[in-house]
Amino acid sequence: MAGNRTFTMIKPDAYGAGNSGAILKMIEEAGFAIKAMKLTKLTAEKAGAFYAVHKERPFYNDLVNYMSSGPIIAAILEKDNAVEDFRKLIGATNPADAAEGTIRKIFATSIEANAVHGSDSDENAEIEGSFYFSQFERV
Ligand code: GDP
Repeated sequence: MAGNRTFTMIKPDAYGAGNSGAILKMIEEAGFAIKAMKLTKLTAEKAGAFYAVHKERPFYNDLVNYMSSGPIIAAILEKDNAVEDFRKLIGATNPADAAEGTIRKIFATSIEANAVHGSDSDENAEIEGSFYFSQFERV
């Protein structure tokens, strides 16, 4: 059965452009409830650890530099079928391929600076949420 929680980040490009409020509005209007939320800035070391699964990819160093270049907002979200429905709401990794009306289509500026993160499985949602939030920082 699909889980009911996912994990997101509003990435440095979207935060820096002042789009956090508009993105959170779209997330809530799509039926997701915010269960934990934090404004923070990743060090390169922490960004590298978060994206360790991409270590061998050619864009890893760029991704780590970008994700540690400015503040991000991390959040745990709740909704039935959360992981799949949130991936639909954010759209494809590359905004050029993202469907009309998706968060990335509206706010992303490149395949790297793509406005938001969304977990790709229930297992990763739990791992990624735990990267930022203790049990006592969730409602
Ligand atoms: P996601 O699950 O849609 O976020 O995509 P991936 O897990 O494949 O990639 C993780 C993140 O790495 C993406 O959200 C982008 O920020 C970045 N990324 C992915 N592909 C590329 C690429 O080809 N070049 C660069 N510079 N960054 C990329």
